[in-house]
Amino acid sequence: MEHIIRERGLWPERGLPVECLGFRCPDTRTDCCCRQLLFYQPDFVCQKSQLEELIASRGHLCDFYPKYHCELNFIEQYWGAAKLRFHVAGHARTLDEMEKKVVTCLDDVPLLQIRQFVSFLLFSSVMSDI
Ligand SMILES: [Zn+2]
Repeated sequence: MEHIIRERGLWPERGLPVECLGFRCPDTRTDCCCRQLLFYQPDFVCQKSQLEELIASRGHLCDFYPKYHCELNFIEQYWGAAKLRFHVAGHARTLDEMEKKVVTCLDDVPLLQIRQFVSFLLFSSVMSDI
């Protein structure tokens, strides 16, 4: 890290610690440690992950869901539709019956409906970026 920071002419005379204790950098500083300084360099900020680059290179849109917001994941809507079918289908008497019922209910959700869940969330995501 020091080598990269020196190459950019940003190495301070007083030096820099590798990282702040416990990764707890002060909120107002971007030059408290090597890690923070590099983290805010424009080329590091703009660098996409290898996964995002791979997905984009194949012509797909890579859209990560925010952490801990499962309601924004279309899988939840799909799962909800399957659970409704499971509830309506009646009681299963054995574990085998229940497993078959789960698979049937998951397969029962029409592909068009699943695509509508995805489309709605993608549309919502695009509209929130505008
Ligand atoms: Zn720091």
